[in-house]
Amino acid sequence: MATGQKLMRAIRVFEFGGPEVLKLQSDVVVPAPQSHQVLIKVHACGVNPVETYIRSGTYSRKPSLPYTPGSDVAGIIESVGDGVSAFKKGDRVFCFSTVSGGYAEFALSADNTTYPLPKTLDFRQGAALGIPYFTACRALFHSARARAGESVLVHGASGGVGLATCQIARAHGLKVLGTAGSEEGKKLVLQNGAHEVFNHKEANYIDKIKTSVADKGVDVIIEMLANKNLSNDLKLLSCGGRVIIVGCRGSIEINPRDTMAKETSIIGVSLFSSTKEEFQQFAGILQAGIEKGWVKPVIGSEYPLEKAAQAHEDIIHSSGKMGKMILLL
Ligand code: NAP
Repeated sequence: MATGQKLMRAIRVFEFGGPEVLKLQSDVVVPAPQSHQVLIKVHACGVNPVETYIRSGTYSRKPSLPYTPGSDVAGIIESVGDGVSAFKKGDRVFCFSTVSGGYAEFALSADNTTYPLPKTLDFRQGAALGIPYFTACRALFHSARARAGESVLVHGASGGVGLATCQIARAHGLKVLGTAGSEEGKKLVLQNGAHEVFNHKEANYIDKIKTSVADKGVDVIIEMLANKNLSNDLKLLSCGGRVIIVGCRGSIEINPRDTMAKETSIIGVSLFSSTKEEFQQFAGILQAGIEKGWVKPVIGSEYPLEKAAQAHEDIIHSSGKMGKMILLL
């Protein structure tokens, strides 16, 4: 370490593996922003399921080791690199991608993936915006081409992406149905835009949804656990209906015939396949929602940085989600 370099606490991953490979270090050098980068003093960082897949080494995208996980940061600009005109020291910001990792006291991000965080949202809410809200926008508007007047079933509505999807869909004139795995989760889903809610742990909940949507079926399904639900989803769709696969943790047998009579589609989502222009479009939708007040991120469980391994364990294995999981710095 060169003299004068500032040090910080950060989670570092030196090998792929279970949650225990997330190591808290207190002597990590604070990075300096390069051209078109900003350095953010992190106040909160969202924890997303994808960070556990990457950490395990089984995901399609593998960072070079060692690395610091985390992309959904909210905090205050500490310094800016050359060519940054949109931000200055002291600005409140959030981002959906980092250069150096968000599970840390400071994080670098590119200026074009960083956005102002209005005072109406706190840092915890800012850390819940990135991946969940951008994914919800992509799933609804890019993948499903959802339109006002259509119906949407958010299959897994009580977590980070699900609640974001309910808020956005409701604000855009869709009829919103959601599912959750607990009574508290059901209430939360109703408070966040759903017209109706069902419990995906109840044996007969699919029949209840079928009764609710009647012969017409549901136009769009935003699916958080396709390996469990895809076969049922195909039977719930309307003519021309679309199942949008956001989350999937394994394989499932389906009968392709279920797509034929109603000419339905199964469409996968990959947030980071979005172009710069698409990210700008999603950011515009969210900015409008923040201004109008219908973008209201709900915070579920909170962990200090040193409990990052526990957070990774829980985001995969705990049920009864009540919003977005975050790390507080
Ligand atoms: P999360 O906050 O952990 O929420 C998980 C959600 O799944 C909860 O609402 C949970 O409900 C629900 N769930 C549990 N069992 C279910 C079942 N049998 N049927 C339907 N839903 C069920 O996770 P998240 O951040 O919202 O992400 C959701 C999924 O999307 C994850 O698999 C994640 O990896 C994926 N994702 C994909 C992309 C992409 O680009 N494709 C982007 C972001 C996220 P209860 O806890 O109430 O049971």
